[in-house]
Amino acid sequence: MTDPLFKSLIESFDSYIKRDSDIKLIEKAYILARDKHEGQMRKSGEPYITHPIAVAKILADLKGGPATLIAALLHDTVEDTSLTLKQVETIFGSDIAQLVDGVTKIGKLSFNTQASQADNHQKMLLAMAKDIRVVLIKIADRLHNVRTLDSMSPEKQYKTATETLEIYAPLAHRLGIFRIKAELEDRSLRYTDPPMYYRVSNMIQAKRTERESSIEHVITNITELFTISDLHDFEIKGRIKNIFSIYKKMVRDNRAFEDIYDLLAVRIIVDRIETCYQALGIIHANFTPIPRRFKDYIAVPKPNMYQSLHTTVLSDDGTLFEVQIRTSEMDQIAEYGIAAHWAYKENKAYSKEKEQFEIAQKLKWYGELMKMSEDSDETDGSAEEFVGTIKGDILDANVYVFTPKGEVIELPKGATPIDFAYRIHTDIGNKMVGALVNNRIVTLD
Ligand code: MN
Repeated sequence: MTDPLFKSLIESFDSYIKRDSDIKLIEKAYILARDKHEGQMRKSGEPYITHPIAVAKILADLKGGPATLIAALLHDTVEDTSLTLKQVETIFGSDIAQLVDGVTKIGKLSFNTQASQADNHQKMLLAMAKDIRVVLIKIADRLHNVRTLDSMSPEKQYKTATETLEIYAPLAHRLGIFRIKAELEDRSLRYTDPPMYYRVSNMIQAKRTERESSIEHVITNITELFTISDLHDFEIKGRIKNIFSIYKKMVRDNRAFEDIYDLLAVRIIVDRIETCYQALGIIHANFTPIPRRFKDYIAVPKPNMYQSLHTTVLSDDGTLFEVQIRTSEMDQIAEYGIAAHWAYKENKAYSKEKEQFEIAQKLKWYGELMKMSEDSDETDGSAEEFVGTIKGDILDANVYVFTPKGEVIELPKGATPIDFAYRIHTDIGNKMVGALVNNRIVTLD
């Protein structure tokens, strides 16, 4: 096979997909997609097949398995070519056919008008609850589409970018895929608010040299301290905030660029959990920590599985800097989220059910979403109601309550003891007479 396009795809997965039968099947999907899309062009003027290949490559960077890559190659064929779902099933089996079908359905829904937006969300969330791979393919599809948004009309650019910021970036964030979330945000901002996008990125450029030397100074400092304390096997990196996160703080919190950007940030990667706390001890013993800025997300991970120690300290020359400390495993999850867990391993037998179960265990909100989408198949509530519940109860969850057994229950901001009681069991909700919060009696509302 000498086709350079396909060769570039092979290069992106040949480190982890080695079985000949899998590679043959991926090749078969590529040839089929190429032939079916023959003559179709993207708006950029490139042959259409460049798009499914790019999507498959994004997924290969996340170590997607053969079925995911094949579905990515075929993801637009049923919608845009003569290929039928039945044919996909005959050639590649029902698992891949279901993935292609899931992506096709979400794609169709996104063309709907504003009024049925809530319905889109619902269908999308339902599809997502059925198979996480469908969501990842759709996120990769969207990432390539925003990467190539320049060739679209201004209206289309604005619509796609807005939708990306409203749906896909938060979704990537929920799944903990920081890398993709940040790229989706920065690229979209360029079309939703170009003046601010260029203002922020120009300011970052202007301050780059100054900032790099300050970070260099802090890194040298910490490295010396660690070495004296006999702490070895660590890595310290300067951390870059993405354009969108700076923009959000400037617009939403009305803060000056300098307030946000001048805050230096370093990330310390060590080999073991114990070493994280040892490193923290050394930092706090040598720099003054800022009160209330210390957060232990190792003991209490974020809902998207993120783990790290966070602190902000004052350096010897009077500048503030943020420190994140974590193991390399936690660092993988911080960058790739659920995809780090999902990474394909050839020697392990793949089971869709097992994967769904494992992800539901790791991502509490995902498990709850699956339960809710099963329930909603029977009940006939409105789409708005369903989305409202999901947004309120799960995606916006930011109150964490421990049950007496130590299980964490996530509730939306403003939730009351009554909500907590009903979440545990309807009977408890119906019969509750009082509540204790942190050993103190509180009113039920
Ligand atoms: Mn596509």
